[in-house]
Amino acid sequence: MPHMTPEEFRAHGHAAVDWIADYWTRVADHPVLARSAPGEVLAALPEHPPETGEPFDAVLADLDRIVLPGITHWQHPSFFGYFPANASGPAVLGDLLSSGLGVQGMLWSTSPAATEVETRVMDWLAELLDLPERFRSGSAGGGVIQDSASSATLVATLAALHRAGGGAVNHEGIRRTYTVYTSSQAHSSVEKAVRIAGIGTAQLRVVDTDPDTLAMDPGHLAALVAADLAAGAVPTLVVATIGTTSTTAIDPVPEIGALCRERGIWLHVDAAYAGAAAVCPELRWSHAGVEYADSYCTDPHKWLLTNFDCDAFWVADRAELVGALSVLPEYLRNAASESGAVLDYRDWQVPLGRRFRALKLWSVLRWYGAEGLRAHVREGVAQARQLADRIRADERFEIVAPHPFGLVCFRLRGADGPNEALLAELNASGQLFLTHTRVRGAYTLRMALGGAQTRMEHVEQAWKQIAATASPPSRR
Ligand SMILES: *Cc1c(COP(=O)(O)O)cnc(C)c1O
Repeated sequence: MPHMTPEEFRAHGHAAVDWIADYWTRVADHPVLARSAPGEVLAALPEHPPETGEPFDAVLADLDRIVLPGITHWQHPSFFGYFPANASGPAVLGDLLSSGLGVQGMLWSTSPAATEVETRVMDWLAELLDLPERFRSGSAGGGVIQDSASSATLVATLAALHRAGGGAVNHEGIRRTYTVYTSSQAHSSVEKAVRIAGIGTAQLRVVDTDPDTLAMDPGHLAALVAADLAAGAVPTLVVATIGTTSTTAIDPVPEIGALCRERGIWLHVDAAYAGAAAVCPELRWSHAGVEYADSYCTDPHKWLLTNFDCDAFWVADRAELVGALSVLPEYLRNAASESGAVLDYRDWQVPLGRRFRALKLWSVLRWYGAEGLRAHVREGVAQARQLADRIRADERFEIVAPHPFGLVCFRLRGADGPNEALLAELNASGQLFLTHTRVRGAYTLRMALGGAQTRMEHVEQAWKQIAATASPPSRR
C-alpha cells in the first residue's frame, strides 16, 4: 500500500471524526466497565502483522468489533470511579492538529511556535488559576507541559536534589543522605520519584496526618526535619498535596511552606486533580500557601476538559530545573539556544523529544473561556454537594471525609463486608462505576463527579441505585 494521499486522508479523517462523534453520542449505552475476560481482545487479534496493506475502513470496523468491547468508558456519564479524564471536542481537535503538524518541539529552534504557544498558554493558565507571579515566564520561573503529574513530581525531585547538593549531585551522584517528606496520603508517584532519582525509599519520611481531615501534620513534619538535620541528613524536598487521591484532603501549605522556606527545602505542591478548582475564585481558599511553592502541578487531563495527556507544571526558578536536567551534546547546539533569548523545554523534562501538546490546551482555553471552565468545575462541585446531601439524609450511610471538590467518600455504617458487597453489586450492574479506598482503616466507597458528560440527573440516578442496592431486607 502506498502512502495515504491527502485526499484519502480527508475521506478517512471525516469517517474517523464521525466515529468519535457517534461514540460520544452513544457512550451512555455501553456498560461502564469493560466486560472482556483477560486475553479476549488479544485472542481476537491476528498473531502476525499483515504482509500487504489493508484499507483504513478495516481498522474502523475492528474498532467496533474488537476494541470497543474491551473499553472501560471513561467518558460515560456514570463513570465515577477515578478522577475524571475529561475529554472534549476542542481538546481532541487540538491534538489532531498537533499530530498533523508532526512537530517535535524539543528545542525552540525545532519549531519556535511550539515553544512560544506553550509559554503563552501556560502563562494564561497560571493567570486562570491565580498562581503566584513568580511562576510566570516573565519572571525567573515559568510553566511547561509534562505528560503527567508523576513526571512533574520526578523533575521537581531532581531539581530539589540539584539545589540541596549545590549542583554536585549531577557530577558525584548521591553521596549524602538526602531526605524527602510527604504525608501518608500522598500519591504513589512520590515514592516512585524517590526511587527513580536514586534517593532510596529509606530516605522517604512519611508524615502523619490529622485523623479528621487527613491533612499533613506540620508539627510532625517539623519534628522529622529536625531529627534528620540532627543526624546529618540533608532535608531536600517536601511534597504537599492539595486534593489527595484517596479523599481530596488538603495539606496545610502555609505552615509547610514557612518551614520549607526557613530550612531551604524545596516545596513541590501536587494539585494533580484539585488544581482545576482554582479557576473558581470561591474555591481558591484551597490554594492558600502556594506562594511558598518552588514548583506546582495540576493535570488539565483530569478535571479541565483536556484529553490525556497534559500536566501543567510550574517552577519559581527555572535555572534550578535547567541546571538539574540540561545536557548539551554537540548536535543540539544552535545559535538561538546560545543567544539565551529562548526557552528550550527539553531541559524542563525527562525525555528529549516533546509533542506539541500546547495546541490542545490552547484550543480548550479558547473554546471554553474562563467562564466555561468555571462553569464546568462548579457543576462538578454542585453534583458532589447534591450527592452528599442525599447520603446525609440516609441514616444507613456516613460521609467519612470532607468533600470540598468533586469527590465524595462514604460508606454504610458498620462493618466492611456489606460495603464490599455493595460496591461489587453496583459495578457488576454496568450502570455505573465507583471505586473504593480505606479511610482510617475502614473500607470506603469513592464517587468522583465532574465528568464532561455527567449531569445532575446521572447523579440522582446513581444515588437511587446505590440506596436501592444497599437496602434489600434480606441483607440487613
Ligand atoms: C492522579 C494523581 C496523580 C497522578 O497523576 P498522573 O498525571 O496520572 O501521573 C498524582 N497526584 C495526585 C494527587 C493525583 O490525584
